[in-house]
Amino acid sequence: MDEEAAAQARLTRSRLAADGVVGLALSVVDNAGIARTKTIPLRRLDEAVRHGVGMSPVFDVFLADDSITDSRYVGGPDGDLRLFPDLERAVPLAAQPGWAWAPADRYAQDGTPHPCCQRLFARRMTERARARGLSLLAAYEVEWILRRPDGTDPAEGGPAYGLRRFTDLSDYLRDLLQALEAQGLDVQQIHPEYAAGQFEVSVAAEGPVAAADSTVLVRQTIRGVSARYGLRASFAPSFAGDGVGNGAHLHLSAWRDGGNLMTGGRGPYRLTAEGESFLAGVLDALPALLALGAPGPAGHLRLVPSQWAGAYQCWGSENREAALRLVSGHSANAEVKCFDGAANPYLALGGTIAAGLAGVDAAATLPAEVSGDPALLPSPPPRLPESAADALDAFSGSTVLREALGEPLYEAVRAVRRAEIALFADQSPARIAEATRWRY
Ligand code: GLU
Ligand code: MG
Repeated sequence: MDEEAAAQARLTRSRLAADGVVGLALSVVDNAGIARTKTIPLRRLDEAVRHGVGMSPVFDVFLADDSITDSRYVGGPDGDLRLFPDLERAVPLAAQPGWAWAPADRYAQDGTPHPCCQRLFARRMTERARARGLSLLAAYEVEWILRRPDGTDPAEGGPAYGLRRFTDLSDYLRDLLQALEAQGLDVQQIHPEYAAGQFEVSVAAEGPVAAADSTVLVRQTIRGVSARYGLRASFAPSFAGDGVGNGAHLHLSAWRDGGNLMTGGRGPYRLTAEGESFLAGVLDALPALLALGAPGPAGHLRLVPSQWAGAYQCWGSENREAALRLVSGHSANAEVKCFDGAANPYLALGGTIAAGLAGVDAAATLPAEVSGDPALLPSPPPRLPESAADALDAFSGSTVLREALGEPLYEAVRAVRRAEIALFADQSPARIAEATRWRY
């Protein structure tokens, strides 16, 4: 370890200790979308920065129910990886006094990057964009449904977006807002959402890896504050098997020379030609991207028409039923609406960037815009894959995502998708929802 890293470790350790931190939780998100952790005493931070913290590579083939599958390049009980915390993101957890959190990158014992590390994948795609002179800003919206341990709604049926629901949970929402901001998260909005006991928080756009890190931290903070109120938060795509679920909409804009490519051009809604090509690449890849962004069978219970989940492969300006919603104005961006909370945020973002760059390379153009609910049109645009198996087929046929992910990660993701499809085969929507409700 070079002197600079050693000095940074020492500084981070004293900064955290001054905040009363005694332990650090390192997190990685697996291919099933579950955030997993190894925690260490703070006094071991210098050692963790020097040698990493051990973790089995078998987590690359874990499923959402903690059962384990196998894949061509990774699996089984052998081997070890080293988790290296990103000290720049290390922050005391406001709702878990004494604990700090940091996202981690995974390396092999010989110090080479682990080819299945999803966070390094997101970084590679960010660098791939940068090599073309493009930078990206991204943010995930987080939706969650709150319940008491006995399953009842703590907002007691308060109306969607209702001041009443906001009032009933006033102290909870204040503590949550305070905790998020104390951790350096730039909250844009926090409000009651549509479904019973559902809320949403959005944070400002950042670079892709930072945006994925932030969504892990936002969710951990929601978990922490909820626990202090004796409540449980569900980020699962489908809470009940039917009805409105939890999305994890991804907002993305691409920039060149400090200019936002999503505005100021001559295309539809002032899109630049390059911005349009980026979005056309994303739109074209959406069926395959679902395997990263709405990865499990539960996601397809949510991804149905007329519930604002974006079930159709189309784009539209401010159209909340389009899988790709163009948001114009001073912070023009595109919102990928079909993604959900079971996604690994690093995979979904990296894959979306790869697809966008493929669109730029091909100088792709967008098809005609769709306005209104596509379900009500005489000839609707194509539906996105209606099952995890159909999405897996699209993913299996995607040369763009295969090349971007690299064989080991691509095959591990495919193995996990196949195994989760088998796990939930022939199960009712209610049963799938029940099995996944409290997992993510
Ligand atoms: N809860 C909806 C979903 O499943 C999204 C509602 C909204 O547009 O914010 O994605
Ligand atoms: Mg929402």
